[in-house]
Amino acid sequence: MSSENYMVQLKNVNKWYGNFHVLKNVNLNVKKGERIVICGPSGSGKSTTIRCINRLEEHHQGEIIVNGITLNNDLKNIESIRRDVGMVFQHFNLFPHLTVLENCCLAPIWVKKVPRREAEATAMRYLEKVKIPDQAKKFPGQLSGGQQQRVAIARALCMNPDVMLFDEPTSALDPEMVKEVLDTMISLAETGMTMLCVTHEMGFAKSVADRVIFMDGGQIVEENEPNEFFNNPQNERTQLFLSQIL
Ligand code: ADP
Ligand code: MG
Repeated sequence: MSSENYMVQLKNVNKWYGNFHVLKNVNLNVKKGERIVICGPSGSGKSTTIRCINRLEEHHQGEIIVNGITLNNDLKNIESIRRDVGMVFQHFNLFPHLTVLENCCLAPIWVKKVPRREAEATAMRYLEKVKIPDQAKKFPGQLSGGQQQRVAIARALCMNPDVMLFDEPTSALDPEMVKEVLDTMISLAETGMTMLCVTHEMGFAKSVADRVIFMDGGQIVEENEPNEFFNNPQNERTQLFLSQIL
């Protein structure tokens, strides 16, 4: 397949934290519109992998190409990649001193120079999509965890990204709020968005993922379409991991 059809490519990516070799020859091609779930034990390098894609972490060897742009030290490249990539974190990372609406408008106004009125209209549209338009004037601290995470998703979508990265978006939530966030992610998947999701929500993986990637020790150890991955894992480490979480 020609590289134009890929949204994200990682080619032999290596990274170290000091002496610690955290990513070891990671290779990953994500097609446009593809939904990938990344799972694996704590410390296996899942967050580091996706954080390298928008340069929240720097890789040291290998190549990362996002939407046709090669990620290097050129700030222009980093900025254009960040414009194409939306990210949702485990701990929401909303600005606590800004209202929900202001959180959603900040980057469109300051980074994309969208006129305020237009940014607000777009923000309200996405807040409706995540089913909390009535919370627009509140501050993050006044919302439940599930609502805050839906704001974080709406905020990322306001930048009109081409790919969305999720880093354990439901693992800080009380159990009763997990479903509302997963439902939001499922409806996003239905729009055809390219998604890379680090999650251990295996129901989500089964219903949404085109491919499940299993990482251990800084390497991609196994990958497969969800049915095969869950029913017929090949690698011993995958089998052990699945026996612990399923
Ligand atoms: P995961 O998301 O799979 O739990 P991470 O990518 O967060 O794994 O971390 C992989 C490994 O790198 C862990 O051993 C972690 O302790 C280590 N690590 C993560 N971030 C840093 C950092 N900023 N400095 C040093 N070590 C780190
Ligand atoms: Mg992590």
